[in-house]
Amino acid sequence: MNEDSNYLIPWNPDDEHEIYTTEILVLGSGIAGLFAAINLSDRFNITILTKKNIMAGNTEHAQGGIAVALNQDDSPEFHFGDTIKAGAGLCNLEAVRILAEKGPECVEQLIKIGAQFDRLENRLDFTREAAHSKNRVLHAKGDATGGEIERALVAKVQDKDSNISVRENYFVIDLLKNKENRVCGVLAYNENKLKLEIWLAKAVILATGGLGQLYKYTTNPPVTTGDGLAAAYRAGAELMDMEFIQFHPTALLLSGAPSFLISEAARGEGAKLLNSKGERFMHDIPGQELAPRDIVAREIWAQMKEGTVYLDVSCLGQDKVQKRFPGIYKTCLEYGIDISKSPVPVGPATHFLMGGVKVNIDGETNLAGLYACGECACNGVHGANRLASNSLLDGLVFASIVAEKIKENPGPLPKKSDLKVPLNQNCLNEKINSIDPEKIIEELKQIMWDKVGIIRDRSGLLQAEAELTNYRQKFSPGLNTAELELGNMLILSLLIVKSALAREESRGGHYRSDFPLTNIKWQKHSVIKKGDTRVRYVSI
Ligand SMILES: Cc1cc2nc3c(=O)[nH]c(=O)nc-3n(C[C@H](O)[C@H](O)[C@H](O)COP(=O)(O)OP(=O)(O)OC[C@H]3O[C@@H](n4cnc5c(N)ncnc54)[C@H](O)[C@@H]3O)c2cc1C
Repeated sequence: MNEDSNYLIPWNPDDEHEIYTTEILVLGSGIAGLFAAINLSDRFNITILTKKNIMAGNTEHAQGGIAVALNQDDSPEFHFGDTIKAGAGLCNLEAVRILAEKGPECVEQLIKIGAQFDRLENRLDFTREAAHSKNRVLHAKGDATGGEIERALVAKVQDKDSNISVRENYFVIDLLKNKENRVCGVLAYNENKLKLEIWLAKAVILATGGLGQLYKYTTNPPVTTGDGLAAAYRAGAELMDMEFIQFHPTALLLSGAPSFLISEAARGEGAKLLNSKGERFMHDIPGQELAPRDIVAREIWAQMKEGTVYLDVSCLGQDKVQKRFPGIYKTCLEYGIDISKSPVPVGPATHFLMGGVKVNIDGETNLAGLYACGECACNGVHGANRLASNSLLDGLVFASIVAEKIKENPGPLPKKSDLKVPLNQNCLNEKINSIDPEKIIEELKQIMWDKVGIIRDRSGLLQAEAELTNYRQKFSPGLNTAELELGNMLILSLLIVKSALAREESRGGHYRSDFPLTNIKWQKHSVIKKGDTRVRYVSI
């Protein structure tokens, strides 16, 4: 693949692609994309392009809940403080303040839309998760919060009176610009018709989620290959804090089973971690089982060298386990473990990207016409380490702000003749893949897990860089989902390696065994952009 190419695959606007126009184009149908669309739909016709079915994405899988300062003894001030503390010195204070203060009205809107959260004696039931000083996490159907939120938003979007149209099985490949360099649409692969299409719009909202699939072990579903991030990078968008990846401490670790998340809420309710001898090992560490995720993940990682690590949920009692965690209980039972009776084997897994496409508080990127929100965006709200259950709230709050911003000045409706002719078509040479793409995907995930994972060092990162660069040079994607995804994964994995190599300290989700301490000198955001020879830094 060509390093400098603006496009993942060769294409020509003069070819006979079908062209569609819509006022606002939303890419992705998770919490961020759907909420942005709903908040824009009183003014514009919206089209949502989404890679698979409308439900597929991280949102549907969210378990524990959504943090919001709505409980009687809570306030946005407390929520602000806890978020800053978890963010390990890298939070954007303005973004955190907006998250905490605007969170309650967004969650109230979500409830009006139809999301039903669990209640206790008719009042909202708030639980506590790691590093929260108050009970402020709303949950639904016990441990199926994301599924309930997604259900409610999808129902609203699909309402017969809504002017939001959803196109499923559309793989967004690249962003398109007009002659003034404004993003004015996308090149998408319609997987139903196996054809490329051009979609033009006044404004484009990137809400394509994270990139957990770059790693061998992840709680994220298959769609999370970071396509939107890679497309934005190719178009010239800045990416920020790409070295900061959150590894969730407790995913099911069983041969033949997926890395199914065992929610932090289980530890919030009192579940305990045990080593291979059946002994607790978190009791001497501040916060114990509810210490920040990166600390718990590294402790588990260290214990795993001696043998299997377990989470004992059974101490909560059978009744509570089945009522509070019905989804986790059922899934583990399918793999032969009754968590109400015996401890479940767990290990860390890649969970969340703190970094993403650099945006300001209004969700604007450095490219006119392109906005981003949700997990693919980074305004610094999560700093170096996201506080549990803040991600769904981030999706709501900043999607609604993007909608407000676009309403102020949506931009002109483009025509095909406005399109800038593709540049850098160096990838037009005949595609010769000497290695099986499936094999590269497997190896990429292994390299990322082993050398760019929970514990990193210079020598491992350099090896990863060499191996990934080699694959990148040998591979050019063809027009099919797996190869398009792999093309994006190769670009992003190298950006993560570059950012991780450059940051010579440990902070939040980024841990370097050769630089184990946090260093004030590094209290700044990394920024990476196509064409730059090195990572840049901007102050917090
Ligand atoms: C197992 C699990 C549990 C979690 N639990 C919690 C929790 O309890 N609380 C919390 O706050 N957070 C939780 N999170 C994190 C949270 O779910 C996500 O960060 C959040 O849902 C992201 O929302 P999003 O809209 O940005 O992305 P997503 O929900 O991932 O949606 C992204 C969308 O983009 C689409 N897309 C991707 N690529 C393309 C492409 N090329 N073309 C077109 N469309 C594309 C996808 O198909 C999808 O529709 C959890 C995550 C996981 C995986």
